[in-house]
Amino acid sequence: MHWVITGANRGIGLALTKQLLSQGERLTVGVRTSMPFEHENLKVLKVDTSNPVSIEEFVSQIEEPIDVLINNAGVLIEEKFPEVTEEGMLLSFKVNTMGPYMLVQESYKQGKLKAGAKIINISSILGSIASTGGTTSIPYSISKAALNMATKLLAHRLKNMYVVSIHPGWVKTDMGGPEAPLLPEESADGIIKVIRNLNQSGVFLDYTGKILPW
Ligand code: NDP
Repeated sequence: MHWVITGANRGIGLALTKQLLSQGERLTVGVRTSMPFEHENLKVLKVDTSNPVSIEEFVSQIEEPIDVLINNAGVLIEEKFPEVTEEGMLLSFKVNTMGPYMLVQESYKQGKLKAGAKIINISSILGSIASTGGTTSIPYSISKAALNMATKLLAHRLKNMYVVSIHPGWVKTDMGGPEAPLLPEESADGIIKVIRNLNQSGVFLDYTGKILPW
């Protein structure tokens, strides 16, 4: 299968990339800088997911029809009430909400998505309106809640595909921090199993396959 992943140079995206390559999959990854290694089944392209022009160029360079698209790139800007800034809000929305939506829309417009394609938006439990009790970042939570709406709307529109949000767990990465209980490899392993077994669209799941409240 051909997988497309954004934000693949570190963290969860890097763990997903390494595991999928070890499982014999073909990947096109989108990164702002470069990947830490090369592989014959890995095509590396540049993308800044906060920029629709960059997204359009990225999609135009994807050569093979897409089986799985993982919108993984994300930012967490630690701003809490009453210190939230316009800059923090807008950058969070661009990277966490607009970028994933535009990548799906552009892939659709350019005819890159296969019938039956799986579109995975890496969201967060911090974007769950139903289960929130607080957050480490107001812009992050709001932008991930909006990403979940994008998932639902795209699932309604793309009836011949699967579109889901996945919470990867609390993971030891630059974003998750050293206290997080899960290794990137453990999260990636769970996410890949959930994607392989996916048989429903328009749902919010965690990395174990459990349904989460929106
Ligand atoms: P990291 O901070 O380790 O990595 C973030 C990745 O996103 C990097 O590859 C980064 O690239 C990329 N990225 C950020 N902004 C852009 C941009 N404008 N254009 C292209 N790429 C960009 O985060 P994680 O691996 O922890 O997170 C991955 C996903 O999982 C995110 O969507 C995050 O919100 C979500 N998540 C993570 C949790 C955790 O506990 N870690 C918990 C819940 C959700 P660069 O190196 O160039 O900055």
